Amino acid sequence: MPAFGAFWVECFRPFFPAVCYYFSTMPHIIAEPCIGTKDASCVEVCPVDCIHPTKKGEKWEAVEQLFIDPETCIDCGLCVDECPVQAIFPKDDLPAEWHKYVEINAKWFKK
Ligand code: SF4
Ligand code: SF4
Repeated sequence: MPAFGAFWVECFRPFFPAVCYYFSTMPHIIAEPCIGTKDASCVEVCPVDCIHPTKKGEKWEAVEQLFIDPETCIDCGLCVDECPVQAIFPKDDLPAEWHKYVEINAKWFKK
């Protein structure tokens, strides 16, 4: 179940996409601990399929970690507990030493 705020963002997204993008930008981020694990447990539980690449995707072999699409993530938090190495954080809880992963996640979807 999405957080209350995320629910309203999704309701208004079709009418005010720019505003909703601002409020939902990078709600969750995958950080450094994913590197070397990359087991895709998080992909299985994401209700909106916003974690990429998938094991069947053509870019799977080329990446060392997975990434969360900031425009699609609904901030439900289901992926957080599924990760065996605690690599996924809500943006506000991301440790300072891993802040660069906000940009790293977003950049992957701009390619
Ligand atoms: S918080 Fe995690 S499971 Fe929920 S939509 Fe975002 S990436 Fe998917
Ligand atoms: S569950 Fe954690 S380690 Fe596994 S792919 Fe997702 S973020 Fe990476």
